[in-house]
Amino acid sequence: MMAAGEQGAYYSVVVPVYNEAGNLPELHTRLTAVMRALARPYEIIFVDDGSTDQSVPIMRSLQDGDPHLVIICFQRNFGQHPAVIAGFNRAAGEVIITLDADLQNPPEEIPKLLAKLDEGYELVSGWRRRRKDPLARTLPSLVVNKMMGALTGISLKDYGCMLRAYRRQVVEYLKLFPERAKFITALTSWLRVKICEVEVEQSTRRTGTSKYNYPKLIRMNFDLLTGFSITPIQVVSAIGLGIALLGFLLGTAILVWNIAHGRAAFDVATLAAIVLMVSGIQLLALGMIGEYVGRTFVQVQGRPYYIVKAVFEPSRAGGQE
Ligand code: UDP
Ligand code: MG
Repeated sequence: MMAAGEQGAYYSVVVPVYNEAGNLPELHTRLTAVMRALARPYEIIFVDDGSTDQSVPIMRSLQDGDPHLVIICFQRNFGQHPAVIAGFNRAAGEVIITLDADLQNPPEEIPKLLAKLDEGYELVSGWRRRRKDPLARTLPSLVVNKMMGALTGISLKDYGCMLRAYRRQVVEYLKLFPERAKFITALTSWLRVKICEVEVEQSTRRTGTSKYNYPKLIRMNFDLLTGFSITPIQVVSAIGLGIALLGFLLGTAILVWNIAHGRAAFDVATLAAIVLMVSGIQLLALGMIGEYVGRTFVQVQGRPYYIVKAVFEPSRAGGQE
């Protein structure tokens, strides 16, 4: 299905939008300036992830004067990744660029990424050397970065930066993955595409607040952990085995001691400690299994990754050019 909007776009810019009313006009202006300067056909795809503020009307009014702007509206909030994937599915360009709507990723950095693509890389990712986020937000990211490096075997300096440029082929690869917890960077690392990172500026969020709270981050990271390896469950099993062996040895030792001394060397506290330890491990293991089973369940249900309520194509007649 060919896009009715900017036919033959060379660049497709995909922006997930969730309650970003205050940022959209400036984003649109700055992004448009950058894209025009590149002097190749482009399209901007705003994917509204079920915003409840004025984001959609604002995007609609921006579209009035812009034949490059496509708006995809979700039925409800599905999350940043589904929004990006929806944008990928629509993108017609040879080069696909993603960035956040909150102006934390300055659009002015895009040419830097494109220069690297021209050098032959297939994916160029921004690296925020100086993150302008509170520690409460950067600390979890630090943990995730380390984890990702260990799991995928490729260490990037920054897995979380959504200012990226992809060759079309990489995006086509990503679309092949039916799994729900799509971790774009993890997948690309795993696919061994040629990745490089360039340092980009990061601003503080212009208006609005971060859409990630702790429960959301934890859920995402469990997705990552269970989605990318079975190591966690193996570790838990190994710990379980170790503890069980310990219990067995302890039991044997106590038995031997009892026989040798003819009395009990065992009090309630020791028993309680052992019971707590073992039952804790069991619960942990059960929870881990639950994580995998739960994900399997969700996958088997086969619910759509996202649901599009409406797509607003740019009007061919209205805009300039
Ligand atoms: N976003 C989205 N759906 C969500 C959460 C976020 O589309 O459920 C968008 C949001 O509008 C922004 C980007 O994803 O464009 C990154 O979100 P945010 O800036 O809140 O994340 P942070 O910078 O804290 O990582
Ligand atoms: Mg942000």
